[in-house]
Amino acid sequence: MKTITIAGGGLAGLSLGITLRRRGVPVVLHEAGDYPRHKVCGEFMAGTTPGLTDRLGLSDILQQGVFNRSSVWFARGREVLRRSLPLPVPGISRHKLDAAMAGLFCELGGDLRVGSTRAGEPREGWVLATGRPPGEPRWIGLKAHFAGVETVADLEMHLGRGGYAGLARIEEGWVNVCGLFRARRLKKRTDAGILPDYLDACGLAGLADRLRPARQREGSGKAVARMGFSRFHSPPGILAIGDACAAIPPFTGNGMTMALESADTAVGPLTFFAEGQLEWSDTIRQTRHLLNQRFGQRLRAARVLHPLPTRLGQLPFPLMRVAGSLIPFNLLYRALH
Ligand SMILES: Cc1cc2nc3c(=O)[nH]c(=O)nc-3n(C[C@H](O)[C@H](O)[C@H](O)COP(=O)(O)OP(=O)(O)OC[C@H]3O[C@@H](n4cnc5c(N)ncnc54)[C@H](O)[C@@H]3O)c2cc1C
Repeated sequence: MKTITIAGGGLAGLSLGITLRRRGVPVVLHEAGDYPRHKVCGEFMAGTTPGLTDRLGLSDILQQGVFNRSSVWFARGREVLRRSLPLPVPGISRHKLDAAMAGLFCELGGDLRVGSTRAGEPREGWVLATGRPPGEPRWIGLKAHFAGVETVADLEMHLGRGGYAGLARIEEGWVNVCGLFRARRLKKRTDAGILPDYLDACGLAGLADRLRPARQREGSGKAVARMGFSRFHSPPGILAIGDACAAIPPFTGNGMTMALESADTAVGPLTFFAEGQLEWSDTIRQTRHLLNQRFGQRLRAARVLHPLPTRLGQLPFPLMRVAGSLIPFNLLYRALH
């Protein structure tokens, strides 16, 4: 049996490693960082189904988190939409989830090399799962965990001017607060940190004031800049999965699920390759075709809708209400997940 080498131990790389090991394929996984660690992510796994997580053997791990069922959307502090989520959405920190998956991969006999950076090389048997490649400098993503913040639904989405933020329940009573903002020079800086200051700057002062007295979990405050979304990246001769293949905008809450789904898609062709039944060039071609089939429509819909959360927050309130009441929530949810 041939060995599969994976660069990147986030959700895509780890879930691929786990599923290949369950099929008896030898796997070496290089992760530049270590576990556990906090990452910029809303940690709200929309679109995940029990069928997918059972297939990947991750259902027990997800039970360590919570399941979110309700959502309320606010535009500049005023409620515009309240909906139940079509499916319960797992909420679990990347601190917990990635570490648990890394542990499972090792238990299954995977060879995990942390602190090991590998470039995406067009080599046989190499899979690129290194996350989103650098994109435009105009977006910044911020996240932190808070205790002592009362929420009115499992997911609160807050739309502002040039940015939006979500509050979602995760394990042990923590609330994940994560936002995407147009990068700007902040006029006012307070001791509470960059996340509340960014919320203030995009007209979400009410939310910033709720966070300022709350306790922030040590080490959970993270930032990421230069983000590009939605397009398929296909470096020639390289098999890429997860965000390294295509990153969907964060408002969909679907990137984590897509990372799992891309592993679920790639595992078949890669197993045939490891068994010597498929050439490497055909493995790449087949996997890309399947990924395109699975994600093409979702990415196109997300690309069209990406400006909406920041634009809606700029409308006068009566118009926002009308727009909120006209949004076909379930239809959009289906198109984006
Ligand atoms: C602001 C923001 C909010 C988000 N909110 C949500 C949300 O609520 N729900 C959701 O589903 N998705 C969300 N996402 C998207 C989600 O985080 C990603 O889609 C998901 O993490 C993709 O998983 P991945 O494994 O492809 O990449 P990553 O999780 O980024 O993992 C890549 C791994 O590769 C490692 N690595 C990088 N380079 C190398 C190298 N050269 N060699 C070895 N290792 C390397 C990194 O250290 C990292 O651990 C959000 C994203 C952003 C930016």
